[in-house]
Formats: sequence, structure tokens, C-alpha cells
Amino acid sequence: MSTNSSPPTRRSVLKIAAAGGALGLITSASSSIVNPARAAGVADHIAKGKRMSGLEWKLLTKKRMSATQGVPPGKEDLAWVTNTVTLIHGQRDAVLVDTFLSEQHSKELLDWVVASGKNLTTIYVTHGHGDHFFGLKLLLDKFPNAKAIATASVVAAIQDQIKPEYIRSFWEPRFPGQLPSQLTAPEVIKGDTFYLEGEELKVVELGHTDTSHSTALYVPSIGLAISGDGVYNNTHLYLAECDQAARDEWLRALDKIEALHPQTVVAGHGVLDPDSSPRHIEETRRYLRDFDACVGRTSTAIALYKAMLSLHPNRVNPGSLWAAAKAAKPSQKQP
Ligand SMILES: [Zn+2]
Repeated sequence: MSTNSSPPTRRSVLKIAAAGGALGLITSASSSIVNPARAAGVADHIAKGKRMSGLEWKLLTKKRMSATQGVPPGKEDLAWVTNTVTLIHGQRDAVLVDTFLSEQHSKELLDWVVASGKNLTTIYVTHGHGDHFFGLKLLLDKFPNAKAIATASVVAAIQDQIKPEYIRSFWEPRFPGQLPSQLTAPEVIKGDTFYLEGEELKVVELGHTDTSHSTALYVPSIGLAISGDGVYNNTHLYLAECDQAARDEWLRALDKIEALHPQTVVAGHGVLDPDSSPRHIEETRRYLRDFDACVGRTSTAIALYKAMLSLHPNRVNPGSLWAAAKAAKPSQKQP
């Protein structure tokens, strides 16, 4: 833990400086240049950030079945969902953000990380939903020196999710025979910053997005915001855990992500080949506002479901919308 959450060691700072005289100069000059540039214009800051940092990132996206059953007919071609994980890496080390749900996808994730040739130091988990951390044990077995970390609230949520009773009653019926046989929880991160080859990775507390106590991870040097499930890409939001207050909290979470002025925004759930554009912040905001408006002018779950589908006909995973509609209109009997 201490190696993950403490400031860069003298060794790593020296290593950055030794990587090249020019790089050292840019790094030392940046503190006086970047802040005024940031105030004056985001693009300028990002361009400088890209030159300064040796970090890169890549995504792995896997498609799976929706967790919601009994969805009204008519959108079968869109009845799937993806999960996306991010590998941030430097010259030698790497940090993985989130994992997958099933044992098969977890094995494929492990192969992908191994094939990167990088030394995995840390796995950061953004929030306490099983589709983002069930693969932890497999990764940690292969990389015994890596630490899985999350905020204290996320760790507590994960410990609840992996209780045998919850696995039996919630996850196993939805994904029979597909879950990894061994599950584990991350450790609690100390502070809100950890480091990859001397570069900052900052935890951003988002509050309630598709579940409570969600977080994003921000890498300032490359303008990369990994939103957890704060931002969705062309996928129906999972609003089944959200009342009006929680939806308002989610809107504030989007403001927080936007205030970072990220160049890249990774969505936890999206299309098969996600563009990771910041535009998905606004599109997620619009979906939340549309849902609020549709809740106000409908009285049944099916009416709410259809009203939202007419506004967002092409988003994948209508099951997520169906679960949200039933949660928002619980007094109505459903077929
Ligand atoms: Zn999720």
C-alpha cells in the first residue's frame, strides 16, 4: 500500500530526470507554464501535458449479456452491454483500472495484461459493482506484487457484494456458472493520489452515479479521466439504484468530471469500439434530464420505458432502462 499511495520516491524522480535532459527541462518549466495556460485555455494545457508525460493508455472492451431479465420485447438486437477496462502504462510499470465480471473475460484480461509486457503494480477499482472487480483474484494471483486498491467506501461495498449469500441470491442466478470461483476485495487506499512512474493518478470522489460512493481516476499529465460508471457511451444508464436525489448527485458528478477538462473520458459501459470522447459527459447529462422529465409525465413503468426509448432508441442495453423504470414506478404491477 505504501508504495502505491506515497509520493514519488527520490529514485523515481531521478529516473524521470535521467530519462532525457529535454524532458527534465520541460518538467521543471511546466509548473510555471501550465497553470496560466490552464486558466487561459484547456487545449494548451493538454498539449503540454502530453509532451510532459511518458504515460500511455489502452482499453480492453468485452461484450456480455445484460443483468436484467424480463425486458419487454422489441429491442433484442440491442440487448447486450460492454465493460471497458483501462491499462495505463509507462516504460516499465502499469496500472489497471477495473476488471471484468466473468471468469472467461477475466482470463482474457489477464492474457492482455501479460501480453503488454508491463509490470502490473496496481489495480484500481472505481466502484462497488461486481462487473468491475470480480476479476481481481485472477490478476493478483498472476501479479503477486500488485496491490488492488479502492476508497474505503468502495471496499466496504465490495465486501458486501462478495458475501456468499449475495453472490448466491443476486449474481449467480443472473450469470450462472460464469463467475470466477474465488473473489476478493481491494485494500483501502491511503489518501487520494498514487503514482505510476512518478506521474500522479488522482482519485475523484463522484458520490452517487450508478451506485453510491463512486469514483473516477484522473491522470492529469495526459488529460485522461477514467469515469468508472460516471459517464456512459451510447448505453442506457443503470438508474435502478437512483432516486431523484441520487440522479441530482449524478448530475453533479458529471460537473466534477467536466471541471477536470479531460482530453479523454473513458466510459465503463459503451460501444464495442469506444471513442472516449468528452462529449459523452453531456450526453449522459442529457439522458439523466430526459429520465427526470419522463418520470414526471408517466405513471407506469412501461410508459416510462417507452417514453425513454422514443428519445434514446439506439442505446444498447434496454434491460438497464427497464430495471430503472420498474424502480422509479414501483407501485405498478408489471407483467
Ligand atoms: Zn458497471
